[in-house]
Amino acid sequence: MEFDSVVVGGGLVGVSLGLAMAQKGTKVCLVDAGLQSASTALDGRTLALAQGSRQILVKLGLWDALKDHAHSIEEIRISQPKSKGFVHYKSKDVGPDPMGYLIPLTHLQKALEDKIQEEPNVTLTRPFKVQALENHDHHVSLTSDTGHTIHTKLCFAADGKQSWIRSHLGMRTKKWPYDQTGIVTTVRHEKPHNQVAFEHFLPRGPLAFLPLKEYESAIVWTEEKDAAAYLMALDEQGFESLLQESFPHLGALTITSPRQSYPLSGHFVPSPTKGRTFLVGDAAHGIHPVAGQGFNLGLRDVAWFLQQPSHVFTDLSLLTKRYTRHRRFDVWSMTALTHGLVKLFSHPSSTLSHLRGVGMELTNHLPFVKRLLTRHAMGIMGGSRET
Ligand SMILES: Cc1cc2nc3c(=O)[nH]c(=O)nc-3n(C[C@H](O)[C@H](O)[C@H](O)COP(=O)(O)OP(=O)(O)OC[C@H]3O[C@@H](n4cnc5c(N)ncnc54)[C@H](O)[C@@H]3O)c2cc1C
Repeated sequence: MEFDSVVVGGGLVGVSLGLAMAQKGTKVCLVDAGLQSASTALDGRTLALAQGSRQILVKLGLWDALKDHAHSIEEIRISQPKSKGFVHYKSKDVGPDPMGYLIPLTHLQKALEDKIQEEPNVTLTRPFKVQALENHDHHVSLTSDTGHTIHTKLCFAADGKQSWIRSHLGMRTKKWPYDQTGIVTTVRHEKPHNQVAFEHFLPRGPLAFLPLKEYESAIVWTEEKDAAAYLMALDEQGFESLLQESFPHLGALTITSPRQSYPLSGHFVPSPTKGRTFLVGDAAHGIHPVAGQGFNLGLRDVAWFLQQPSHVFTDLSLLTKRYTRHRRFDVWSMTALTHGLVKLFSHPSSTLSHLRGVGMELTNHLPFVKRLLTRHAMGIMGGSRET
């Protein structure tokens, strides 16, 4: 059977792209190595969605199903220990909309799954673990580990940060380790968060408190590998008291969900296409979660395809050239920004720590710079550069 496109990977980006391509009126097949949708798996991540991502989800017809699970972010406050200076970005400085929203990953995945099941243009094929891929002049053939083969005009690889397709096609990838682990959980706290997202840069990595219900926040605590293993091994009380010590500003804390950990690394693919295959989402770029931007970036890959007029999809060299060129700036700048933030704040020098404090204070007094940074954080800068 031949499709207009096959999306490999039923994670958040793959399903979003499947929906986008189906809404363009093309025949899509979505395959995933797993039997069940990811929403049934236990994934404790709560994702920060930029305002720009909400607009994309509205276009995909998903926002109505999500809005009841979305908690708004009205302000972002960045701080470091032993420093009075902190920088804060407020949504009201740039307009009436919140800066972004927090949504549990499982709700997002479920809403995507429900929506794609209704799409008449989409064939869902699971489990289908791609084990062979052949790029031909006019089509791509994909074969599963059970020997089933499908043919497609275009292949979108949304198979995650360890992308089998990327390595199978030998696509040049710059990779770097962070030697850090992200620990996620949720907490109830004594004081209200007032819709503020806190990013507190500890010497070994950032600790984020992200607003959910009034007295509840999602935590992303990034630590060096060994320290993270220690934190994961602690009993609940031990973990709670270290968390409290590291960030006392919301009063007494109570853990409300199990801890989960994610090893962190980064990668960048200078040319995310080969033949008729296009990398999207984490397969195409891997960034540190410090600014909560990985899925936002992947969703902007999806939005790019959604925006293209249909004639572009029939001209492979135009599609390849445009995708590579238009997405490069957004991907590269977000990768550099997140990497730079991690390196800047994890440097142990006390002089640098002082300079960071001064820099944060200074930023607060430069309304133009703050507005610019706030719009960037909201994902409303117009991520793709159309040249
Ligand atoms: C701690 C942490 C916090 C984060 N917080 C945020 C945040 O606040 N905001 C944000 O925007 N981003 C955040 N991110 C990033 C975000 O989670 C990812 O960018 C996003 O989930 C990637 O989705 P994806 O669909 O590209 O890949 P994945 O979710 O990895 O999906 C890949 C899919 O491909 C399938 N697959 C793999 N190989 C094959 C194969 N050979 N054949 C068939 N199928 C295959 C897998 O089964 C899987 O379903 C965070 C990440 C971490 C680690």
